[in-house]
Amino acid sequence: MDLSEILFALGEEHEQYFNAIAPPIIQTSNFAFSSVAEMRQCQAREYDHHFYTRGNNPTVEILRKKLAALEGVEDALVFASGSAAVSAAVLSQLASGDHVVSVARPYGWTDKLMTKFLPRFGITTSMIDGTSIENFRNALKPETRLIFLESPNSYTFDLQDIEAVVELAKERGIVTVIDNSYAGPLYQNPLQMGVDLVVHSATKYISGHGDTMAGVICGSGALMRKIFSSEYMTLGGIISPFNAWLLLRGLRTLEVRMDRICESAGKVVHFLENHSKIDHVFYPFSTTHPQYELARKQMKKCPGLFTIRLKTADIHEVERFCDSLKHFSLACSWGGYESLIFPACATFSADSIDEKRVNLVRIYIGLENPEKLIEDLEQALG
Ligand SMILES: *Cc1c(COP(=O)(O)O)cnc(C)c1O
Repeated sequence: MDLSEILFALGEEHEQYFNAIAPPIIQTSNFAFSSVAEMRQCQAREYDHHFYTRGNNPTVEILRKKLAALEGVEDALVFASGSAAVSAAVLSQLASGDHVVSVARPYGWTDKLMTKFLPRFGITTSMIDGTSIENFRNALKPETRLIFLESPNSYTFDLQDIEAVVELAKERGIVTVIDNSYAGPLYQNPLQMGVDLVVHSATKYISGHGDTMAGVICGSGALMRKIFSSEYMTLGGIISPFNAWLLLRGLRTLEVRMDRICESAGKVVHFLENHSKIDHVFYPFSTTHPQYELARKQMKKCPGLFTIRLKTADIHEVERFCDSLKHFSLACSWGGYESLIFPACATFSADSIDEKRVNLVRIYIGLENPEKLIEDLEQALG
């Protein structure tokens, strides 16, 4: 389906709501029935009917259709946050005694899920360097049920070879889940490479305005039904109709925002790579990235997040650089209109400086004029 059709028309039935152009926010918890028979039927098949908003809500339903189509699959489930979506996707595939192979250093709360939360339920996890397929093969056990990917993954944006991992997983009947937040649904489609479940933090590019938290799982109708009737309904971490509406609004401009961010990030990366005070830029579409060829193969384009390594080991110099930027806010998230920085040293406690990471600063390029951003970086680098 054409991208414009997905973003501007799919799932929208204007005649259902007075031919209004913008879909309504159906802000209700309940739906009423005209007979016991009708009520019984809808209650028994909540996935397909409107019974109660924790299950199915018409505003959320429009969003589900669009998000599923963007990943080229049958359905999607939308959650209150990316973390709610990650944990529901992972939990849905596991039982006590199972083993998980996960890429090392995933998103912080995913890391907690793997290393602290799952062990409480008798599930073990091996966290591996995902840059080599051999590491996946060597970590597999007879009880491995799930492989968790995040490609590219924070903070240095290492990749996993998605097709190679899928091939290995399929040989052994192992389910694959990938966190696709970095590239978003327009720039990487792992479901088309055979991954079973794709998860996004929709708080990032899909919302796009730094004002809404949400998460999404995309996959086959069968898997979505399974998750719906278990983790989605039972854990109940669902999106509200209003936040779903804000995401629908965000989707209208997803393509133009992503294009702008991608183009600007390319210019800023080029500037930084040629600056004498910068030691290295970690960006998948940079020719110095060790997995550049793989990035080009599995990602259509590369959006706005990268990390720089400054040519200094002095934490005060790093802090001075960050504090003197005028057009970048110091903040942890990304994906909105506003450019942000997150220095690694902001996570250090006063008495423990990690020498290897002290000079790393993550940068997100938003929708501002890229020339202004470059000027700002130039003055801050001094
Ligand atoms: C932000 C983020 C999450 C968590 O999403 P929230 O919407 O903040 O809960 C998960 N994975 C990645 C890669 C992220 O960047």
